[in-house]
Amino acid sequence: MDAVEACLNTSLAGFGTTIFAEMSALADRTGAINLGQGFPDTDGPSEVLDAAVEAIRSGENQYPPGLGIPALRQAVAAHQQRFYGLNLDPETEVLITAGATEALAGALLGMLESGDEVVVFEPMYDSYQAVIALAGARPVPVLLRPGLATDGRYGFDPDELRAAVGPRTKMLLLNTPHNPTGKVFSHDELTLIAEVAIDADLLVVTDEVYEHLVFPGSRHHPISTLDSMAERTLTISSGGKTFNTTGWKIGWATGPAPMVAATRTAKQFLTYVNGSPFQPAIAVGLGLCDAFFSALAAEMAEKHHRLAEGLTAAGFEVYPADGTYFSTVDIRPIAPDGDGMAFCRALPERCGVVAVPNDVFYVNRAHGSHLVRFACCKRPEVIDEAVERLAALAVMR
Ligand code: PMP
Ligand code: GLN
Repeated sequence: MDAVEACLNTSLAGFGTTIFAEMSALADRTGAINLGQGFPDTDGPSEVLDAAVEAIRSGENQYPPGLGIPALRQAVAAHQQRFYGLNLDPETEVLITAGATEALAGALLGMLESGDEVVVFEPMYDSYQAVIALAGARPVPVLLRPGLATDGRYGFDPDELRAAVGPRTKMLLLNTPHNPTGKVFSHDELTLIAEVAIDADLLVVTDEVYEHLVFPGSRHHPISTLDSMAERTLTISSGGKTFNTTGWKIGWATGPAPMVAATRTAKQFLTYVNGSPFQPAIAVGLGLCDAFFSALAAEMAEKHHRLAEGLTAAGFEVYPADGTYFSTVDIRPIAPDGDGMAFCRALPERCGVVAVPNDVFYVNRAHGSHLVRFACCKRPEVIDEAVERLAALAVMR
């Protein structure tokens, strides 16, 4: 039995169950409003849903090709051209994956050697640390702090970024728009990051799943559009956030053929392929008119402002965000001990709302212990009900 007790691969020690699974289970158990795990509570465009139904009915139910169906690879390439002016060969520079999660896993497992270092901004999406560990590599975090960019926004210290790069650094892993802070990296910040990557000859992997959830007034810049960056950057995205289909898990990786091939080499032994009827449906989505994409961003901005105002009124310190589903707050005005994990575990019982503690997104968890993330991707009446419940917390103190 000792073997069974100790069966977890040591590189995964400490990763346990993801915070999203834990907090969504808590929401189910308590019936609380779930502003934890980021998923919308309404369906996306009917054209996309209808295309999936049609694909199932017309027999697209067997394994798709290893790279993904040609129509989706072409649609991804056309999307990158249309929105960002990037030219990609759908045969060699586009790979369809089981969500962005698998694209990230494939890229990191496919390109990192044991002992390599990966420079990554923290806080970071939870799968990054786990996959870096599985690859036998080491994350070297660069801290994003509120107030280091304009108007109280999250930013980083350029010297810290430069100092994070050493002889073992192989890759820089970026996420913009950023989960959990809602930061959209500016062109100037990306220029600096690009300089560091070029100087040290780093591979760059960039996670852009929230590319279409950037609020009016801000702009998403893929780092691969900067000078000399397309040739060293693998860009990852997925259809989940853009088409309200987070359960479909259709993602993609685009970039130089060798980086796509390395990702595919690992990916083919993870899932091989997935989602054959969903692939043509996401291809339809990527071809929707510009008005669809701008309305999506405007609608999310409204939800974001609604939630952020409610959280501020409830007494939290809310940090400004320019995109994504998420608002990060400092809980200390409401919970002076600043223990975000305890706060989130107790919140459903206290007031019927679920949120996610940000400490899980840090290598050094103490940096995020007083921070909590709320998701705004819900119907307005759900947001209103949640903030009303949260407002009661200050009164209860
Ligand atoms: N990256 C980030 C930053 C995310 O927030 C998420 C979760 N939506 C993912 C990757 C995973 O995306 P997918 O559901 O397409 O695997
Ligand atoms: N990306 C979503 C979030 O950050 C959840 C993804 C997941 O459950 N793994 O909330």
